[in-house]
Amino acid sequence: EQLNAQEAILKGMQDSTEPTIFDKIVSKEIPATVLYEDNLAMAFKDVNPVAKTHFLVIPKIKAGLSQLSKANEDHKMLLGHCMYVAQMVAKQEKLEKGFRVVINDGVDGCQSVYHLHLHVIGGQQLSWPPG
Ligand code: C5P
Repeated sequence: EQLNAQEAILKGMQDSTEPTIFDKIVSKEIPATVLYEDNLAMAFKDVNPVAKTHFLVIPKIKAGLSQLSKANEDHKMLLGHCMYVAQMVAKQEKLEKGFRVVINDGVDGCQSVYHLHLHVIGGQQLSWPPG
């Protein structure tokens, strides 16, 4: 019920950003290995994995969230939901020893797809810090 309310709010939000490759994954125009999907979010395997396990969690309704720094009050529940989905799919993918969640934002953050996404990386010992 809470998800449906949030879906209605997001659908009503004007999205002036161009459709991205992830919109095409949501609409199934482009194939992806989908690990989880509900009415707000989708998790799928990254095509260019940087670790043994690497999947992305995206909001299905972009609603102006091309990047994290565009977030406003109305996105709070969606952001929390994506974070929740990240750990749920991490469990599903048996990342019981741990994992990393990354959001790249903007040019300095090396963001390449301007449709908010959480990277979930694991399945092996990772190093820190990133560059
Ligand atoms: O954070 P950033 O925007 O750089 O990440 C985009 C990610 O989307 C990359 O890891 C890339 O491999 C992934 N990607 C994908 N499927 C596509 C296009 C990009 O998994 N069709």
